[in-house]
Amino acid sequence: MSKSLQAIRGMNDILPEQTPLWRYFEGTVARLLDNYGYRQIRMPIVEFTELFKRSIGEVTDIVEKEMYTFDDRNGDSLTLRPEGTAACVRAVLEHGITGGGQVQKLWYVGPMFRHERPQKGRYRQFHQIGLEVFNLEGPDIDAELIVMTWRLWGELGLRDAVKLELNSLGTSESRGRYREALVEFLSAHIDKLDEDSQRRLKTNPLRVLDTKNAETQAILVDAPKMADYLDGESRAHFEGLKARLDAVGIPYVINPKLVRGLDYYSKTVFEWVTDKLGAQGTVCAGGRYDGLVEQMGGKPTPGVGFAMGIERLVLMLEALDKVPEELSRQVDVYLCAFGEAAELAALALSERIRDQLPNLRLQINAGAGSFKSQFKKADKSGALYALILGDDELAQQVVGFKPLRGQGEQQSIAWDALAAHLATCVVQG
Ligand code: ATP
Ligand code: MG
Repeated sequence: MSKSLQAIRGMNDILPEQTPLWRYFEGTVARLLDNYGYRQIRMPIVEFTELFKRSIGEVTDIVEKEMYTFDDRNGDSLTLRPEGTAACVRAVLEHGITGGGQVQKLWYVGPMFRHERPQKGRYRQFHQIGLEVFNLEGPDIDAELIVMTWRLWGELGLRDAVKLELNSLGTSESRGRYREALVEFLSAHIDKLDEDSQRRLKTNPLRVLDTKNAETQAILVDAPKMADYLDGESRAHFEGLKARLDAVGIPYVINPKLVRGLDYYSKTVFEWVTDKLGAQGTVCAGGRYDGLVEQMGGKPTPGVGFAMGIERLVLMLEALDKVPEELSRQVDVYLCAFGEAAELAALALSERIRDQLPNLRLQINAGAGSFKSQFKKADKSGALYALILGDDELAQQVVGFKPLRGQGEQQSIAWDALAAHLATCVVQG
């Protein structure tokens, strides 16, 4: 196939074999968020480029090299969203729904776009479920975010495979003082730093902390520690968060090098990481961004949020064999009809059954081939039962009811009794 007719590298089709697992994951998260009182918001996929530059920061990996940016026909510079927080903040400001100090607990789901090198767990179009909370400044809400994800890992069977890493970046004042001390220290060792870190030292020095370069890491061992520069308020906030995690019994490790890739974080930052996916180990990441709304032109508004990568979590469910058994079956009952009159009756009957059993997954294949080929299709569909409707059944107003998975003999069921019979033998999730 010519290249222009293929999907763009790093942008994947999610095929029908995969979508049940995606829906299971997204549905589990959505139900949990409903239960905790979070409400969904849907933002556009494209925004003005300026929005991302202003919020994410000019000297971050995303803005420097990962954005899909283009001019539209009016000459405006637009960008496919690389993350959700910027657009969510823009939306709450534009609609004035946080300005009077109103609490908003919002979540979103959808595709994000970053021009990165595609590999397992890293794509150019990927999907996140994210959430943002506005106007709550205490550590209790940071804890709620983490407690909620802990519950999610529990429901998905992933608790043993993830680890929580925590850090506090302090307020912008204390981070500023720390940044100065770090720059002074690193400048004295500049010759021994890797090239990337030398560049970051000038543009975004905190990012040097999460370098992968072994020599630079060795130098960092003696570098000043963020914890020693934390202001009292941030320290108390961090202690408050840890006390709550302890109260629920959620294990964590403090990672003083966790700085996150974006400019806007303050105080709490956290990541859920796994060693089950190779290099792409972060499945959920977030933190507090108390200065962001103001920086974007709003009133001072505390904020905190996280985003999780759906592809990575789906990969994890597969790798750890945590795909629920029932996802493999997508049809409960398969109705085969033979002959024109029987086909008409089958359609009417199937609609009656759907009225009575709205959750039943009933597939009707009237008119498609011989008895044998229809029956094969019924079996292949994974259905538990086949219903058979030919001229004889039509005359008697019954269907043949045939178990397909070895649960007994075929029997004859009257149309009027069919819904009640199906209700007893098909367990619906
Ligand atoms: P990484 O360090 O892996 O590049 P990040 O810090 O850039 O991640 P965030 O911006 O915090 O990622 O996004 C939150 C989550 O979204 C990540 O933890 C990850 O699960 C997922 N994610 C980020 N970038 C990608 C990508 N290119 N492909 C797939 N998932 C991604
Ligand atoms: Mg990244």
